Amino acid sequence: MFASDLLKEVKIPCKVSFVKTSSYSGTASTGQLKTLIGHDESLFNQHILIVEDIVDTGLTLGKIIEELRELGAKSVEAISLLRKSPAREKKIDVKYVGFDLENEFVLGYGLDYDGLGRNHKDIYRAIDPSDKID
Ligand code: 5GP
Repeated sequence: MFASDLLKEVKIPCKVSFVKTSSYSGTASTGQLKTLIGHDESLFNQHILIVEDIVDTGLTLGKIIEELRELGAKSVEAISLLRKSPAREKKIDVKYVGFDLENEFVLGYGLDYDGLGRNHKDIYRAIDPSDKID
C-alpha cells in the first residue's frame, strides 16, 4: 500500500518490480531471511530505490542491498515508511524515512500479523505484542 501511494507521486520514468521476503514469525524477527519471490529483470547498471514498509533490525534491507550490489546495480538507496529503534541504534542506512517508531509491533496499511491485517486502511499499534488476535 505504501509503494502504491508513493509511486503515484513519482513523476520520473521508472520500472517497478516486487520482491517478497520473510523474516518474521508472529510479532518477532526470527533473524533468518527467506526469499519467497525474487526479482525478475536485469538490475545491472541500474539506479535502485528499495521501497520498504518498515525497517526493524535491518536484516531484510541489509541482505537485499548486498544482493543488489552483487548483481551490479549502479546505486542502491532505500525509503521506508516506518523505522523502528533497533534500525536507528544500528545506524541502518535508510535515505528517506516517513516516521520513527519505538520498538513496538504495528499492523495495517499492508503490514500483517501472521498474514492478517494487511487490508486495514490505517496503521495500528499492538498494545501488548503477546496478545493474540482471534
Ligand atoms: P527487519 O529485517 O528489519 O528486522 O524486519 C523487516 C521486516 O519485518 C519488514 O519488512 C516487515 O515485514 C517485518 N516487520 C518488522 N517490524 C514489523 C512490525 O512492527 N509489524 C509488522 N507487521 N511487520 C514488521
